[in-house]
Amino acid sequence: MDQVQITLPDGSSREFPRGATPLDVARSISEGLARQAVAARLDGQLADISTPIEDNAKIELVTLSSRDGLEVYRHSAAHLMAHAVKALFGDEVQVTIGPAIENGFYYDFFSDQHKFTPEEFEVIEKKMGELAAADLPIVREEVSRDSAIQIFKEMGESYKVELIEDLPNEMVSLYRQGDFVDLCRGPHLPSTKFLKAFKLTSVAGAYWRGDEHNAMLQRIYATAFPDKKELKAYLAKLEEAKKRDHRKLGRELDLFSFNEEAGAGLVIWHPKGALLRTLLEDFERREHLKRGYDIVMGPQILRTELWKTSGHYENYRENMYFTEVEEQSYGIKPMNCLAHMLIYKSRIRSYRDLPLRFFELGTVHRHEKSGVLHGLLRVRGFTQDDAHILCAPEQLDGEIKGVLQFVQDVMGIFGFEYEMEISTRPEKSIGSDEDWERATDALMSALRDSGLPFEVNEGDGAFYGPKIDIKLKDALDRRWQCATIQCDFTLPERFDLTYVGRDGEKHRPVMVHRVILGAIERFVGVLIEHFAGNFPLWLSPVQAVIVNVTDNQADYAEEVYRSLRAEGVRVQKDLRNEKLGFKIREAQVEKVPYMLVVGDKEMESGTVAPRHRSGKNLDPMTPVEFVRFVQDESRQYH
Ligand SMILES: [Zn+2]
Ligand SMILES: [Zn+2]
Repeated sequence: MDQVQITLPDGSSREFPRGATPLDVARSISEGLARQAVAARLDGQLADISTPIEDNAKIELVTLSSRDGLEVYRHSAAHLMAHAVKALFGDEVQVTIGPAIENGFYYDFFSDQHKFTPEEFEVIEKKMGELAAADLPIVREEVSRDSAIQIFKEMGESYKVELIEDLPNEMVSLYRQGDFVDLCRGPHLPSTKFLKAFKLTSVAGAYWRGDEHNAMLQRIYATAFPDKKELKAYLAKLEEAKKRDHRKLGRELDLFSFNEEAGAGLVIWHPKGALLRTLLEDFERREHLKRGYDIVMGPQILRTELWKTSGHYENYRENMYFTEVEEQSYGIKPMNCLAHMLIYKSRIRSYRDLPLRFFELGTVHRHEKSGVLHGLLRVRGFTQDDAHILCAPEQLDGEIKGVLQFVQDVMGIFGFEYEMEISTRPEKSIGSDEDWERATDALMSALRDSGLPFEVNEGDGAFYGPKIDIKLKDALDRRWQCATIQCDFTLPERFDLTYVGRDGEKHRPVMVHRVILGAIERFVGVLIEHFAGNFPLWLSPVQAVIVNVTDNQADYAEEVYRSLRAEGVRVQKDLRNEKLGFKIREAQVEKVPYMLVVGDKEMESGTVAPRHRSGKNLDPMTPVEFVRFVQDESRQYH
């Protein structure tokens, strides 16, 4: 009989009749696996569980507990939602595309007759439930391009027709479930009954193919999980995230604002926010100085000619702002590298000078489309904790290790776990094989030395060098890009940076761009959500507020206020003629760590009664003792 050789992930292989499916393979292993497998990777390609295997292949069975499985599940849920919408609204709505995304999926619909509202979500979910319960097989079909166009034309699905017309392939694949058919590469779950837990979350506008000249579509966002328990946990997290939204807390805590009159994506820092940011920046300066960095500062605008030398004008112009003065064109800096290189070039460098580590809290401006701006997380003007390390090639290893240690120290201070990934040489790249090898080895060995797990994105590096990306995990288990470490072979070339080596000859230094927190704005946004506005004492813009019980202690409260301030405690006073309970509640809403209550008893004994925002009381102490308490609490960060 005609056989194919199937190799399992453990390296063992078995023979199957040609045309056997991944499901047959699963069955041959165990019934349990056959029940759980929903798709497979055949020679690395994701495929339906019912795909006939025509040639020898390596197989990996995909279950819902894997990332692949979840993606297949969510993409199938997208079809289910489109199916339900078509079943409910028929010709009023046209389907377009519906991919799986992180934590869920969406589907874009076109309709000029119907406007989706969150009030209808339940109706759509109910229909989805019915279609899932009907256990409709999800069947793949391969048809010619022309007949696919015919099929969708007859259904009046003009967006699908447009998509197929743009496909280069002779044959296209469709997926049918019941009376619903969608153009799709797949793979999909075997049947709708696998879909057990889903929820529609929001609806928003989106342009067809992301182009503002095209029709406006309605995008319904939703999420789906293999079981109801996981869905419930996720929805609870989403609810918590809403409460912690930094835009909402930023307003409530009076930290910052945006103003259309000033311009979108430009942060306006209010006193408390500016103080918070200053505290972070002071922290950064201390930590960098401790690690042998030099603080430098470059100008905000640099001549356009220089941006041409660096290659930014050619490759990054679209994201830059320009200005002209006295017929001289300037580019507002989108990155801080250039001035740092000019500092390097300002004198002859010897190998004894290296490494040089130039650190700048550099404010940059980058034009982002208004549609992607999002609070502090995506802005047009921001300040990076940016540094450029210029070193001899043989120093690279140690420098990268130093940066990773820096990241580890800082993430530890804020209490963040993090994940790391390295991106290696892409097909199109500059620099010699030797350069790439050395830089990639340096990054790899530093990653291995850290003892932490990391992912490798083969071929995903920038054309000018390999890099490490670090994503922190916040209290709600969300990932945020923070640190990056990027090796660069182009800029030292373009700017002809050299140093005199031991041999008296000129050599090219290696350049590393790196940030630790990334953009301060973004990091503040992440911190607000991570701590839900309850900043630790050392970062709180207001550490304590003095509240008197009655007017009787007003003078004493004033005296305490002055003495604490003089000692550097960030303190405020609330001496209004209001009830104590009211003033305490207000301070709690503002998330001030300590309320210092002064009544007659405290006045007589020359003390204050500290009360933590959590409601916990400390023993009364003198103002001097409170100063020491605050200093002790904050000391580990100084
Ligand atoms: Zn699909
Ligand atoms: Zn740079």
